[in-house]
Amino acid sequence: MSPAAWLPRTRPSRLDTYVYGVIGLAFAALLYMLLAQLPADLQLPHLNVLVFAALLVVGESQPIVISRGDDDLDEVTIASIFIMALVVLGPAWLLLLAQVCAVTFDDVRRRKNLKRLLFNNAQLVLSGLATRAVFCLMTGRSFAGDDAPMSVREVLPALASGALFFVLNNGLTGVVVALALAKPVVPHLRDDVRFQLSTSGVLLAFAPVVIVATDFSLLLVPLMMLPIFAVHRSAKLAAERERQALHDGLTGLPNRLMLQERTGRALDEGARNGSSTAVLLIDLDHFKEINDTLGHYVGDQLLTQVANRLRESLREGDTVARLGGDEFAILACDLGSQADAEQVARRVVAGLMQPFSIDGVRLDVQASVGIALSPDHGDDVSTLMQRADVALYSAKEHRGTFAFYSPEGDLHSVEKLALLGELREGISAGQLVVHYQPKCDAGSGGLVGLEALVRWQHPVRGLVFPDDFVPIAENTGLIGALTLEVLDQALAMARALRDAGQPLGVAVNISVRCLTDLELPRQVAGLLGRWGVPPELLTLEVTETSIMVDPTRTMTVLGLLRDLGVSLSIDDFGTGYSSLAYLKRLEANELKIDKSFVFAMTQNSNDAVIVRSTIELGHNLGLRLVAEGVEDAETWAMLKALGCDVIQGYHLSRPLDGAALRRWISDYQRPLATVTPLPA
Ligand code: C2E
Ligand code: MG
Ligand code: MG
Repeated sequence: MSPAAWLPRTRPSRLDTYVYGVIGLAFAALLYMLLAQLPADLQLPHLNVLVFAALLVVGESQPIVISRGDDDLDEVTIASIFIMALVVLGPAWLLLLAQVCAVTFDDVRRRKNLKRLLFNNAQLVLSGLATRAVFCLMTGRSFAGDDAPMSVREVLPALASGALFFVLNNGLTGVVVALALAKPVVPHLRDDVRFQLSTSGVLLAFAPVVIVATDFSLLLVPLMMLPIFAVHRSAKLAAERERQALHDGLTGLPNRLMLQERTGRALDEGARNGSSTAVLLIDLDHFKEINDTLGHYVGDQLLTQVANRLRESLREGDTVARLGGDEFAILACDLGSQADAEQVARRVVAGLMQPFSIDGVRLDVQASVGIALSPDHGDDVSTLMQRADVALYSAKEHRGTFAFYSPEGDLHSVEKLALLGELREGISAGQLVVHYQPKCDAGSGGLVGLEALVRWQHPVRGLVFPDDFVPIAENTGLIGALTLEVLDQALAMARALRDAGQPLGVAVNISVRCLTDLELPRQVAGLLGRWGVPPELLTLEVTETSIMVDPTRTMTVLGLLRDLGVSLSIDDFGTGYSSLAYLKRLEANELKIDKSFVFAMTQNSNDAVIVRSTIELGHNLGLRLVAEGVEDAETWAMLKALGCDVIQGYHLSRPLDGAALRRWISDYQRPLATVTPLPA
């Protein structure tokens, strides 16, 4: 049997003492063999014994990989049958030679290091020799070897020594694995023996049958091999099936089932030793767009690369799993505190922030991570998973970040989830209505355009404002439908106004999610055509941060939109982050100073400075400047004095529904304020 895989990691002193002890003992035994036993008998053994030796070597190199119900893979080889055959029939030197050849050949092929090679040889030499010695004691055979075939009397001793070999072989390797993994030795051995009993134990019991049969005729060897091959094959298939049931086909990562199993075990372990276990749910922020626009091949490649990066960011003993789609999870065990979990999350977020490259194409992906931690957030698997989901939901509201579970977020999210379900229906039931807010020339006060602002006429809740449902739509696939609906209504309004002799431009807000959608330009063109509205009358408002989320893709989409002839406006300027280089490359037409600076600019000199510099900057970049949030005549006057081009705000009008807007336009005869120049 092949020694299980083991890695020298912790407690080198105890481990080394054990490893070198076993190696030393094996050397002593070999020396004794050489000096005392070998010269006695070196004649060539029978052909069937040589065949066993050859099969031993071949068998060792063809292990059966067996899953232990988890990612722990173990190996069983059919070589143990032939080891037992040689133990029984001898001679001892051939047993030794065959074992050493088999192990050395196999370990060299697998590039194991010298220490492991020596240990693996040593443990097998010791197990084989000790078993041979005991068998000889029981049967009275000579230790060095004799030619006699196995008799019926020897079947029971053969089985008994098979059991001894099983205990020695598994015991010696079990201890080294336990020491290397710093696990308690006795429970590990117990687990190991229980598992091996049903696999290699059964093979050992088969050995006497093989010996007797080949003694009858060597021609039976191929026949005997048939059932062994059948076992070999079905064990392999079973292991493969088990693997498939517990792993994701694309990335090879553990799947949800296995994650749950492991989380359960980690929680038990944590309850015993007082450590925390964290479940981190990871969701890629732009995966859907990539998959939709670049195709499944690229999507699959990306997922595989993401899986590899997540694997790399893991600590020893942690698990990364793919739960489906673009959702991954990490199980982090043995944590001391929340800060440890945070560290894992930071590593994940930072790791995924680096651009990916697929067939030379650069892709930027960001991840949101939701974290739930035992025992604070739950002490069973399903609670923890569910709460990590809630945490993920709040993390997604602030892309590229992570969030821990919090009960407030939970309440919030239950309501939001309910809203999400209703929004889906609401959009198709035509419950979205668009309100319009006038934009006027700062100098003359003349009406220059409208901003379309969506509202949701909810059958029970009444009028719901965009801040309460646009973020939900953005985190799901709904934002696309929402945007198209608003564009459709806004262009219908532009058309109606033009027909009524009021050719006013209309601005529509475009969310970041839509800006990465290569379909958008085609859809916009379609709607412009449908309503017969010239592209100059449509402005698309995008926030500066949304451009920076994925500049390459956003710039492509915005470029296509510009080619249509529509205007671009940079919304909420000053609240996010952007790069002047991109602002310039964007070739936008308009910059909207965020209302938070405008509200208090007459009172707060800092705000006034920001507004003034923004106007200067915008003008230097050749942009038209719009100030939103103008609530009084004084602010308007100040903006006018600073050279701002357009104003928008409650002072002129709140956003109005279609009918109210028409009334407002016909009532709006003259500027609402006269300009008072700024004191010099
Ligand atoms: P925004 O694009 O910056 O729109 C301006 C917001 O400021 C509007 O809020 C408007 O009602 C409000 N506002 C305008 N003047 C004043 C003022 O003088 N004082 C105050 N306090 N507020 C003023 P609203 O309609 O609630 O929209 C909020 C945000 O929701 C918008 O900010 C925009 O980012 C988003 N949004 C609205 N409609 C849509 C849409 O159709 N699609 C997308 N993706 N986002 C939308
Ligand atoms: Mg806007
Ligand atoms: Mg704004």
